[in-house]
Amino acid sequence: MSDLSDGLSGKDLIAQGAGITYDDFIILPGHIDFHHQEVTLEGRFSRRIPLSLPFASSPMDTVTEHKMAIGLACLGGIGVVHYNNAVEAQAEEVRKVKRFENGFITDPVVLSPQATIADVDAIKARYGFSGIPITEDGARHGRLVGVVTNRDIEFEPDRTKRLADVMVTDLVTGRAGMKLEEAHELLRTSKKGKLPLVDGEGRLVSLVSRRDLLKRRNFPDTNKDPRGRLRVAAAVSTRDEDRERVAALAEAGVDAIVIDAAQGDSIYELRLLEWMKGNYPQVDVVGGNVVTRAQAARLLDAGADGLRIGMGPGSICTTQGTMAVGRAQATAVYQTALVARARGVPVMADGGVSQIGHIAKALALGSSCVMMGYMFAGTEESPGDYFYEGGVRLKRYRGMASLEAMAAGGDKRYQTRADDRRVKVAQGVSGAVLDKGPLNDYVPYLVQGLKQSLQDMGVRGVGALHAALEDGALRFEMRSLAAQVEGGVHGLHSYKESSLGMRSG
Ligand code: 5GP
Repeated sequence: MSDLSDGLSGKDLIAQGAGITYDDFIILPGHIDFHHQEVTLEGRFSRRIPLSLPFASSPMDTVTEHKMAIGLACLGGIGVVHYNNAVEAQAEEVRKVKRFENGFITDPVVLSPQATIADVDAIKARYGFSGIPITEDGARHGRLVGVVTNRDIEFEPDRTKRLADVMVTDLVTGRAGMKLEEAHELLRTSKKGKLPLVDGEGRLVSLVSRRDLLKRRNFPDTNKDPRGRLRVAAAVSTRDEDRERVAALAEAGVDAIVIDAAQGDSIYELRLLEWMKGNYPQVDVVGGNVVTRAQAARLLDAGADGLRIGMGPGSICTTQGTMAVGRAQATAVYQTALVARARGVPVMADGGVSQIGHIAKALALGSSCVMMGYMFAGTEESPGDYFYEGGVRLKRYRGMASLEAMAAGGDKRYQTRADDRRVKVAQGVSGAVLDKGPLNDYVPYLVQGLKQSLQDMGVRGVGALHAALEDGALRFEMRSLAAQVEGGVHGLHSYKESSLGMRSG
């Protein structure tokens, strides 16, 4: 080692003994000879599922249903649909993702000519857009008679005016079945904000939006299967009865199944894993959750295509306090990734991420993808309605082992026998998180921050980061408690937190 190499290698950082987590350490800066836009974030979810964005959303009933899975896959990540529902309901969520035609809004909000400008105002307040197709009868797939956009109504003082009097009827439309590229070309040449697509009888089929088009230009890396459909994963429990769930999900076209168990090193999980590999070889199986080398090795021996890492770090989680079992997350990620990397299998750090730096640190310790619940809860795409408390816009976020979620069926992750369910020991809480807005605004913010973080480390991508971890070029250092305080905001009389509810420091 030259005299100029200070700090510790990843191996030495972890070898110090005590289990550590993200905030305990810091990564030393590297040398920058490239722009942060050159940084790529390609990661991996499982053996056969590459990601252009290394983000996965947690299988929780306040985080991932089809809207989250669609939103994330469009941005290059992947959603894992929760199983706190009937088998058929979960399979339908998967089908909705597989059916989604990227770029086409197939369930647009529409109004009838008899509706008023005030109705458009209400839609704008609720959804944030005001370009609305008008159909003869106000039905979603009714005959298209006009379009109303902000331009047509913004200076109109009389908000009770009927849309029939203000809508544009000289329309540019596309025909149903046209390719997205053709639709984009029409939007470009017509300079319109929205392009309605109609069938042979003039009925509205879908809508293409200029705003989506512009956003997508920055994020061309949609996560698609070889047939061009969005990729999606779904979770199942280790219970025997969930073999029926596996069958329904495979039938629906799911790309990967995550076996969701708080302690994944069990005969129940190993049996299910082997059964799935034998019966559904086309579906990747992510095993978990595990935190030790031995646990990881056992799931890998049974054929796991990916591992989910974490026991107790989740923001809504009380496992470590209640069960006295678990592991500090940074140590867990490093140790399991070491074992999995040697076999060419990716690991996914799950839980405990509340700021961009945590994502960067999880990747730096060998993770190929980061699973988040807290970070995606409160976005527009997460299930549930917004509500206000003290003037703040919030959404519910609850642990799957909170009493509330267990009552709705979420306890399958924590107890393996149905007859044990009379006594429930909660391993999670139920709470609320701040409104984080739509994924299309929020994820670019995370991506930009993450790219700048990797640039500061002097690496151009996740692959380079893992190589630097392995050969010791990436240097780490523990942070004393005082250093952690110094690294956060301190000494101010007052300051404003990030509006997205992300921690600073
Ligand atoms: P977060 O991103 O909020 O920090 O953590 C999300 C992760 O916490 C989930 O992906 C899952 O692994 C875990 N989790 C979800 N619900 C519960 C719960 O009720 N108790 C515990 N112990 N972990 C949970």
